[in-house]
Amino acid sequence: MSRVFVLDQQRRPLMPCTPARARLLLKQNKAAVFRGFPFTLILREAHPKAVVQPLRVKIDPGSRTSGLAVVNDTTGEVVWAAELIHRGEQVHQALTKRREVRRERRSRHTRYRQPRWRNRRRPTGWLPPSLESRIQNVETWVARLSRWCPLGAISYEAARFDTQALQNPEIEGTEYQHGALAGYELKEYLLLKWGHKCAYCKRTGIPLQVEHIVPKMRGGSHRVGNLTLACEKCNQKKGNQTAHEFGFPHIQAQAQAPLKDAAAANNTRWALYERLKRTGLPIETSTGGRTKWNRKRRGVPKTHWLDAANVGPSTPELLRWQHVRPWLIRAMGQQNRQMCRMDKRGFPRTKAKKKSTKHDFQTGDIVRAVVPAHLKNSGVHVGRMAAKASGGFTIATKKGTVTDISYRYCTRLQRNDGYGYLIAIKEECDSLPLP
Ligand SMILES: [Zn+2]
Repeated sequence: MSRVFVLDQQRRPLMPCTPARARLLLKQNKAAVFRGFPFTLILREAHPKAVVQPLRVKIDPGSRTSGLAVVNDTTGEVVWAAELIHRGEQVHQALTKRREVRRERRSRHTRYRQPRWRNRRRPTGWLPPSLESRIQNVETWVARLSRWCPLGAISYEAARFDTQALQNPEIEGTEYQHGALAGYELKEYLLLKWGHKCAYCKRTGIPLQVEHIVPKMRGGSHRVGNLTLACEKCNQKKGNQTAHEFGFPHIQAQAQAPLKDAAAANNTRWALYERLKRTGLPIETSTGGRTKWNRKRRGVPKTHWLDAANVGPSTPELLRWQHVRPWLIRAMGQQNRQMCRMDKRGFPRTKAKKKSTKHDFQTGDIVRAVVPAHLKNSGVHVGRMAAKASGGFTIATKKGTVTDISYRYCTRLQRNDGYGYLIAIKEECDSLPLP
């Protein structure tokens, strides 16, 4: 299991403890539960002699899922980990829908309204809302973690590959001289450039090899402009021919063109980097190539949270991660800005937005419902609840969704904080795909 966060009486973070110790602290009444999701304790007595070692939060940003890991650099232990699931796609869809409704409304000739084109200016640093939501998710979680555990540094995967390592083969540093790390950076570059598929048969989801367009034996260089990706079959079939002779003249032209959108692909990452700087913690930046290299060398399987644990040159040589079961944290959004629902013609269909609390519960609260034996859905249900207009609550539990639960049987464990929580099932962690 991940460790449990511990706060002192003044809510200052102490070293996270093991679940066994947390149980003992609770049993002896030395601590109380501060928060259930993620599990955090607060001590009842002062601990002036408590020793605090700074921990490192490591971030692997992704478009759908970002990995987060808190690592103790001295012991090499992964203290806590999570996969943060973004809602960029939902944000995009909601805005598209809003745009359609507004456009439709404008095109109806109801009354004259002066056109108001180009009267708005985007503030500097503006990003599309779908990207902004991803950035804010990570920002929120780094801020939260810094309140619950003693963070001393950030490791951040700021780019997919190191442009320096590609352009300058004589780069300093032992890892680069041995060539292994530079190889990983190169592979990441080629994967992005050739769209993660075989350049010849266009198949995806298969192992790809770095392939020389003009073969080495015929004077082809090792430069990026002469390299592409091919599956084993195509690579062997091509043999000692050039791409032109093999029947793919356009590949030679495509390889010569540098990857133009490499910078664009990294834009969101750098925007997030700027935000992380505001935390005041020292940030170590790294690349995806380095993450993969670290991961393979330590024999760690590929998941988002384990990728996060392997970000950066500071990764401990012996990384202890086997005991961790990561939290799966899903961004749910807070509220709906729309005042009422529209029909397909953009005409108001429902009454104005109502108060969002029902019997002192709000959609998104995590509740524990104890339903008596003689009723439908009897038993204990713990999960995120949604208030329905009919009055009954719907609770999303680990086993599935239960409906029509009366508020009378519910107690709130935690107020809505915009996220849904699950701990990864142990079997899922055990059957991780090995590298
Ligand atoms: Zn192929």
